[in-house]
Amino acid sequence: MKILVPVKRVVDYNVKIRVKPDGSGVELANVKMAMNPFDEIAVEEALRLKEGGEATEVVVVSIGPAKAEETLRTALAMGADRAILVETDDSVEPLAVAKLLKGVAETEVPGLIILGKQAIDDDSNQTGQMLAALLNIGQATYASNIEIANGQVTVIREVDGGLQTISLKLPAVVTADLRLNEPRYASLPNIMKAKKKPLEKKTSGDFGIDTTPRLKTLKTEEPLGRKAGVKVGSVAELVLKLKTEAGVL
Ligand code: AMP
Repeated sequence: MKILVPVKRVVDYNVKIRVKPDGSGVELANVKMAMNPFDEIAVEEALRLKEGGEATEVVVVSIGPAKAEETLRTALAMGADRAILVETDDSVEPLAVAKLLKGVAETEVPGLIILGKQAIDDDSNQTGQMLAALLNIGQATYASNIEIANGQVTVIREVDGGLQTISLKLPAVVTADLRLNEPRYASLPNIMKAKKKPLEKKTSGDFGIDTTPRLKTLKTEEPLGRKAGVKVGSVAELVLKLKTEAGVL
């Protein structure tokens, strides 16, 4: 069985985000970029399923600028077998990403598609759900455990108030949550080997999909600074402050 893992190139989560002076978005020039952290978890899970004999091939795909090749090479260095770059300089919204991924899935015919639960740049949390709907297959979001047996995938989902276990017929779409696993680091020899692994390049035009944004950003602003905290001397003082100053008791 083949597993397809979509990976997005985003601003590294360690970077302090700065808003552009004209408020049109966040500053991306000369900023360190990296693989979306939830996608690293998705790649790791696909690799573990392959190592456990449940999958035979792990294919990673990214939709983004030419530089997204670096993100794909990271996934190849982690152990993915093959990569596909759908090159575009547009900022592609989740619906267009899902339509392009549908096109890739129709050619690749994966048994399972594992995405991140959300991209940490736009925080949309939409692509996996839209992709499953477009492909008309089942979906299990927020996975914290994945098991495959007898043509079914059983997923433990992190939901409000606890864990939910569901079973889906394959092919299916699963989105990875934080506790699914801890992704491996790529070793130096594997980084070198990844340079020679196959990477196929396509464009959004190859799929006949219009990626023009449907949303217009009106304004981007920094969150308000947090007020400094105070240290209280006793529980009595804490309770008094909660009553009189914070007004929460
Ligand atoms: P989102 O719906 O934007 O929060 O993204 C959810 C997941 O969809 C991500 O964790 C990725 O697995 C996938 N995804 C979103 N955008 C892209 C992209 N441009 N290229 C590849 N995968 C993407």
